[in-house]
Amino acid sequence: MATLDRVARSFLLSELIGGMALTLKTMFKPKYTINYPYEKGPLSPRFRGEHALRRYPNGEERCIACKLCEAICPALAITIEAEPRADGSRRTTRYDIDMTKCIYCGLCQEACPVDAIVEGPNFEFATETREELMFNKDRLLANGDRWESEIAANLELDAPYR
Ligand code: SF4
Ligand code: SF4
Repeated sequence: MATLDRVARSFLLSELIGGMALTLKTMFKPKYTINYPYEKGPLSPRFRGEHALRRYPNGEERCIACKLCEAICPALAITIEAEPRADGSRRTTRYDIDMTKCIYCGLCQEACPVDAIVEGPNFEFATETREELMFNKDRLLANGDRWESEIAANLELDAPYR
């Protein structure tokens, strides 16, 4: 009986020492948690977040209304209407994305020949109503204006792999 007690005590002691050692080791490692939303973790350049329509540096819309993004979207989330301008160029008169349907597959971005529609780095666009997730052209262009520098930098980083 005394032998069993000794074995149990030494087992508990070794467990305690092991636990303390693990605690001490972990105390000096970097933290796994962050103080979101005040701190944010790193994002991949390929992160597929909120959609945006981009412009050229002169302010002209990139989108040429080819409708490839609308055709490839597996969720049928994109609706485009277009007509020629007075100068003969073709531009959209309507560009809507129903974000309640979108599955963030990135195919619209992949299909676009002029890098107009992209999934930007913004992931903080939760809403309280469905209506707020019906993005129109103005909203998408505003997203593009807001995130252009980050989007351009991400596209450049990802370019060698595309
Ligand atoms: S990410 Fe996919 S599902 Fe969403 S709009 Fe683009 S193609 Fe459609
Ligand atoms: S966003 Fe790109 S793929 Fe879609 S209609 Fe415009 S140019 Fe074509």
